[in-house]
Amino acid sequence: MIIFGTGRKVVGQTPTRHDCSYCGQQASVGFYYQVRYFHIFWIPVFPYRTITGSQCMHCRQIREGNELSPQLLAEAKVEKPRPPLKYFSGIFVGIFFALLIAAAVINERNETHNYLKDPKVGDVYGVKQENGRYTLFQLMQLHGDSLGFRVNNYEVDLSSQLSSIRRDHGDDFSDEVWFYAKDELKELLDDQRIVNIRRP
Ligand SMILES: [Zn+2]
Repeated sequence: MIIFGTGRKVVGQTPTRHDCSYCGQQASVGFYYQVRYFHIFWIPVFPYRTITGSQCMHCRQIREGNELSPQLLAEAKVEKPRPPLKYFSGIFVGIFFALLIAAAVINERNETHNYLKDPKVGDVYGVKQENGRYTLFQLMQLHGDSLGFRVNNYEVDLSSQLSSIRRDHGDDFSDEVWFYAKDELKELLDDQRIVNIRRP
């Protein structure tokens, strides 16, 4: 369950410089600025509005938004602060995780290229087959530029489901060994039919 909602917080105040039109006290009215923001799990994601208010320190009268005179509103606007960055925290957290994922994707792609360049028995290839489904090839034999694989007995519809074969059927490979030339495998990699290569 995702818990989200809105919050509000006073992020700035000005000294009491204005006279109160209600109680008549001089220099008793100051402004405050209240940011309103969306949160997800109480982490502020982004601010959607900053409310301007005035408060009389003598009679305690509070006015907000359009309850202030146009003249006071105009004066209050001058010192209206930008919402502090922490009210964008959710966006920063999102960007951070997006960068982490991008780094992991780039890292896996580099590893896959390196593992094909310098193969080792035991490497496990995620492969898209002719039928469009995905399975695992396990490297069993190396004869120069000829690589011999056993094919996993299980298939999945999506490349993202390959991890479930790795987890649940990591040893369920055929007995036969199929040979591919390295150049052939390179083509499969370029065609994105080799999804990834993992080295145990
Ligand atoms: Zn007052």
